[in-house]
Amino acid sequence: FTLFIIFSFILVVVSSNVILALIKAKKNAEIQMDKKTRVLSNLGHELRTQLSSVHGITQLILDQNKKNELDANTFSEHTETLELSSKQMLFLVNDILDIHKIESGNFTLNSKPENLNNLLNKVVTPFKNKALEKKLVFEFSIDPVLKNFYVNTDASRLTQVLQNLISNAIKYTDKGYVKFSAKIELQTIDFAAVLFSVKDSGIGIAKENLKKVFHSFHQIRDKNSLNIGGTGLGLAISKTIIEKMNSQINVISSPKEGSDFYFVLKLNKVQALTETENQISN
Ligand code: ADP
Repeated sequence: FTLFIIFSFILVVVSSNVILALIKAKKNAEIQMDKKTRVLSNLGHELRTQLSSVHGITQLILDQNKKNELDANTFSEHTETLELSSKQMLFLVNDILDIHKIESGNFTLNSKPENLNNLLNKVVTPFKNKALEKKLVFEFSIDPVLKNFYVNTDASRLTQVLQNLISNAIKYTDKGYVKFSAKIELQTIDFAAVLFSVKDSGIGIAKENLKKVFHSFHQIRDKNSLNIGGTGLGLAISKTIIEKMNSQINVISSPKEGSDFYFVLKLNKVQALTETENQISN
């Protein structure tokens, strides 16, 4: 009888734990679904906004052309808007495809020799104007030593991470600065450990959200960031890319003071290529 009581007790404890775990898993799945539904709706809105802009501008071009009102300046303004909207749509679609690749385990890197100095200069150029439009101070510093050698890296994925961090920094900052730096922390003949940091004086992130911002579909929607847009996919993709590069992306942040997103990459040095070899490899 005692055995029966013990057995029943164990059975009750085990089954109640199983039930609790199932309820928790269901709740988590529901939260994830809620987030996915919200992101799908955000994506839908963002895509519609950009498509409406493309459609509106195309109609305007056709109309003005018919009435012979399409001078060279107007035409170039229209095409710039078209270029911007189509680029935004491409970013959105690429993010969705990247998340799919990550979730299905098919996300891989493609490394080749790159000059980090050139790569970083290319990354920051478009952001200088964006920061200026918001009257933000944009500071950019690269360790001069980085000019001297090539490193093995996936240039387009590294670019993607830095673009995500810098565009977030500008998006979530209304006054003050955005600072981007790449410093050599340690180097030998074979490798360089480079610290990348994107720092801003923006809205910052509350302590309880610091880890969550790297989860897919997570967006903080408080009164400070309610209408900013975005999909909540960028940081999750960036985190995966940096992990694939054998490192980790971190953030230090305080609400109303700003954030500092940073990571250290240990990059293998490759013997400097000649100018022609470099052109061929590009
Ligand atoms: P989103 O497209 O929403 O910007 P991300 O994955 O890039 O998606 O970022 C996830 C969330 O992290 C954002 O919605 C925002 O709430 C928060 N976040 C990211 N970068 C910053 C930053 N520099 N300052 C404040 N909050 C940020």
